[in-house]
Amino acid sequence: MIKTTESAVVIGASIAGLAAARALSETYAKVTVVERDVLPGGAEHRRAVPQDKHVHSLLAGGSVTLETLFPGFGDDMVAAGAFAFRSGVDWYLDGHRIQALPQRGRGVVSSRPLLESVLRKRVAALPNVTIVDNCDVLNPLASVDRRRVTGVRVASRAPGATPTELAADLVVDASGRASRSAIWLAELGFQAPRETKMTVDTTYVTRSYRREPHHLDGRPGTIISPFPGSPRGGFLLAQEHDEFILTIGGLFGEQPPMDDDTLLTFAESLPSKDFPEFLRTATRITDPVKMRYPASVRRHYEELDEFPAGYLVVGDAVCSFNPVYGHGMTIAAVSAALLRDLLEAGPDDVAQRFFRAVAGPVDAAWTLATRSDMRFTASGVTPTLESRLLDRYITRLARAAATDEVVAAAVISVLQLTETPDTILAPAVLGRVLRHMSNAARVG
Ligand SMILES: Cc1cc2nc3c(=O)[nH]c(=O)nc-3n(C[C@H](O)[C@H](O)[C@H](O)COP(=O)(O)OP(=O)(O)OC[C@H]3O[C@@H](n4cnc5c(N)ncnc54)[C@H](O)[C@@H]3O)c2cc1C
Repeated sequence: MIKTTESAVVIGASIAGLAAARALSETYAKVTVVERDVLPGGAEHRRAVPQDKHVHSLLAGGSVTLETLFPGFGDDMVAAGAFAFRSGVDWYLDGHRIQALPQRGRGVVSSRPLLESVLRKRVAALPNVTIVDNCDVLNPLASVDRRRVTGVRVASRAPGATPTELAADLVVDASGRASRSAIWLAELGFQAPRETKMTVDTTYVTRSYRREPHHLDGRPGTIISPFPGSPRGGFLLAQEHDEFILTIGGLFGEQPPMDDDTLLTFAESLPSKDFPEFLRTATRITDPVKMRYPASVRRHYEELDEFPAGYLVVGDAVCSFNPVYGHGMTIAAVSAALLRDLLEAGPDDVAQRFFRAVAGPVDAAWTLATRSDMRFTASGVTPTLESRLLDRYITRLARAAATDEVVAAAVISVLQLTETPDTILAPAVLGRVLRHMSNAARVG
């Protein structure tokens, strides 16, 4: 493809930044990704992304999208050591194990550092993309009238380095949840986006174990979503190097234990026997690590009437989701794919077009996550009549999904972000849930 536009800069070389760089590489002659961390050569943890020590489950929606951005992504993951599987991961919703469905194609699971290193390698191999690490973006540069961003001021973290300027036709902020875009916009005389917050007070505790063939009867993993009455859940997923990662989580102040004895008691309180059975025989490799996630945050860039030309924001910098739903990386990938498609029509007004387009998938994931969080009394949200009815429906849906393949397929497609949330309200699904309810009432 002809590169129609000169240069772009991406702030941050994490999942959103790498995916955005790939999208931009099709339109921009030169793309520079600036990352403040020293980037490792392989699949190692990074200081600036402390969440990378915890489970990172890539949903099917993200996997499919990354494959379109990076053809052969799944093969690269397997070659790098990711665990490939044909039988699906068990998923518990509202305490019910969703009817296992035949896996469509191959699935892969890995640690977050492995996933990031595969993407980084693919991006670094693009001839028109350069990744500059150990370097801070200090602020955007603007035209004299401040209507257009013209590049960024950067400072290498190498000793003795002085700040320099990097010109760009487009600057993409992929600097994560702590993004300074709102402040930078205000400094340029633009309005900051409205922010919506959902306090969730989530705590994760994570350890790695040696994987043995008998664990989980050879299955790749089990996910337990927290639900009202049980604000605790967990992920037990196969990883590279014959390991399992176990992340247990608590919502609304529920604290997962750090010591092994209490962990077993905690695991025994979960709806699946997989966790305690696994813990009774598994050999621990790493010490537990803990991370707190106070609140989901959404910044409504799509509402702004005015925005500087040559600038946009992606990934967690736009929306950071409660991690128990595993939405972040998928939305980062979906956003990059949208950006790539929008740029085909040229770079004019790309920010406005992008924020409008990305608001759809962000809204769907945000609604799914926050609606689930609001079901907990501890959320402090007073339920409306509509949400009370929906909650009741979700309880029955989860029960029906335990035995009904059609309902299970709909639920899984929504949880995996391959379909929109209204899929669970489709007449075919609704009808089956109602039938299950009346059958259960007759038996009861
Ligand atoms: C505990 C936890 C568990 C999670 N689990 C999952 C999961 O299971 N599945 C899932 O899909 N998502 C999960 N997520 C979300 C996921 O981590 C993020 O959505 C994903 O990393 C994409 O974020 P990002 O690239 O926008 O930002 P980040 O990953 O936060 O990266 C931002 C990058 O920008 C760099 N940076 C910041 N400021 C500057 C600057 N001024 N100059 C240069 N560089 C800068 C940082 O060093 C960093 O590399 C989880 C999150 C948490 C907290």
